[in-house]
Amino acid sequence: MEYPIECKLPYPAIFDSHAHLDDKAFDEDRETLIEEMKNSGVAGIITCGCDIESSKRALSLAHKYDFIYAAVGIHPEEIQKGDSLDEIEVLAQDKKCVAIGEIGLDYYYDKEHKKLQKEIFSSQIDLAKKLHLPIIVHDREAHEDTLIILKDKKPKGVLHCFSGSVEMAKEVLKLGMYLGVGGVITFKNARKLPEVVKIIPDDKLLIETDCPYLAPVPYRGKVCFSGMIPLTAKKIAEIRETDTESILQLTKENATRLFNI
Ligand SMILES: [Zn+2]
Repeated sequence: MEYPIECKLPYPAIFDSHAHLDDKAFDEDRETLIEEMKNSGVAGIITCGCDIESSKRALSLAHKYDFIYAAVGIHPEEIQKGDSLDEIEVLAQDKKCVAIGEIGLDYYYDKEHKKLQKEIFSSQIDLAKKLHLPIIVHDREAHEDTLIILKDKKPKGVLHCFSGSVEMAKEVLKLGMYLGVGGVITFKNARKLPEVVKIIPDDKLLIETDCPYLAPVPYRGKVCFSGMIPLTAKKIAEIRETDTESILQLTKENATRLFNI
């Protein structure tokens, strides 16, 4: 995998709050890439599970590399497998597990099982609260129901790859939750996201990749990795009228605070 030269500058602090390092896109050169990222300023990565198996893979990567942390959970697209939440609870007690995620609602891929999605999302929030862990929320075309559940349960956590309106962002922020912004902000069709990025308080902004997906411009469509975060930070800095280093610094502080690292 090619490591873009503009991402090789020794940035002081890059914390990727949402990655899928266990994805098969990284099978060929995962170890080399992780070493390169570590040497290029990536100070922390949270790699998220989507079911039992990927949660286990996330944990084993977290055990292998001290700057990698894991989130365990069942993604809304994976609920049909019937994976056991009891097993998630066991995995969540690992010392390198820092969150329950990725969990949430996805009405883009699955409109048929809304009720089941809501039940599993709610149960995993209850689990996170029981274990005093934050949650990492996936919300795709399910803004209304996501907000209803969050308002009811009031968990700690982040809405990753936030795609809602400014109004929704304000509601989520009122609950004390964080908003995750990734490569989409660099896309021409980012729509309402720049307006959202403007209003997030400094202490509630997280930066992320969702790698291997959503590589920032000019690498859109390529395999993404945490080392590309400076490109996303640069765009966020432009919108917020600050500099890239400040965005990297504050998003790292926010991630270490939320995930208790
Ligand atoms: Zn994800």
